[in-house]
Amino acid sequence: MTYQEWFDAHASKHANIMAKLTHLRDDEVIRYFRFENMVREENDFCPLYATNTRCHDTPELNCYLCACPYFRFNDTGLGIKEGKTLFSLCAIETPHGGEFHTDTAIHHDCSGCLVPHQERYIAWIFDRKWLVMMAKVGAVEPSYAKITPL
Ligand code: SF4
Repeated sequence: MTYQEWFDAHASKHANIMAKLTHLRDDEVIRYFRFENMVREENDFCPLYATNTRCHDTPELNCYLCACPYFRFNDTGLGIKEGKTLFSLCAIETPHGGEFHTDTAIHHDCSGCLVPHQERYIAWIFDRKWLVMMAKVGAVEPSYAKITPL
């Protein structure tokens, strides 16, 4: 699965859940996406739910903003770095991020970062349309958020 295929499939899953939550206030929606509740209610949202596994070892894990709006990717490469193709990076270069290297490629590693999983941050950037949140910080073009029929 390419980054773009994953991104589009995830946007669609998120929209399907949001279509069921129109009766909830924004703060209730954020609470609904807490890991514990999502494992119970939305088991196909993340493959890790099947084994009740957290993507980050933290007690307060919110899944509303998976994938991070600062994550930049291009399946054909963003550029060349250290003689390898760079496929993804962090737009805010947080010190909590890292890199996965192969002989020819570099992919960004978010396993040490909690930025998009904290409810304070989610509330700050919140929108009921996931793609609109992505557009707010430049993860997608505003036109993409508007034209995608979600
Ligand atoms: S390192 Fe953190 S802020 Fe950067 S893209 Fe990954 S999850 Fe987002």
